[in-house]
Amino acid sequence: MRTWQETVPTPSKFGNALIGAPEGSDMGCDLRLESVHDGILVSGDVTISLEGQCSRCLDPITDQMVVEVQELFLFDASSENPEEDDEADEMYEVQDDTIDLEPMLRDAAITKLPFQPVCREDCEGLCAQCGVRLEENPGHHHEVLDPRWSALEGLFGADDDTTREER
Ligand SMILES: [Zn+2]
Ligand SMILES: [Zn+2]
Repeated sequence: MRTWQETVPTPSKFGNALIGAPEGSDMGCDLRLESVHDGILVSGDVTISLEGQCSRCLDPITDQMVVEVQELFLFDASSENPEEDDEADEMYEVQDDTIDLEPMLRDAAITKLPFQPVCREDCEGLCAQCGVRLEENPGHHHEVLDPRWSALEGLFGADDDTTREER
């Protein structure tokens, strides 16, 4: 068994639209490489630095994420279940005595990133109508100008009129 502890620069486009690890930022790998019967088992964890934007208030977010990985890199992926094409896509292979960790790290990390990251779980975000920051403006609201409510007001008015006419 070998250990591989190394800080490597993050490759480009490592994230989704709102959050990810900036290209070139430190990616701390703490991995174990074990020779097994049909390949090399890579396991351990990788720490990445995240930068992004809160999906509610648009504030910048910086965070760290530790991603656990455990994948088998096969010596000869083509000999494994040649009929199961779906599985083949997710297989990693030892090529020319080296293993390429990047696809594995992408699969492990990017799928775990939140699609709607928040700066805090209880971030109140921005007012949908005017964009003010809600936590700085407690009780902020707008008069409801929904036409359906005006129609209801009209109904009640009409009722009142009828009552008066009956008297
Ligand atoms: Zn926020
Ligand atoms: Zn508002």
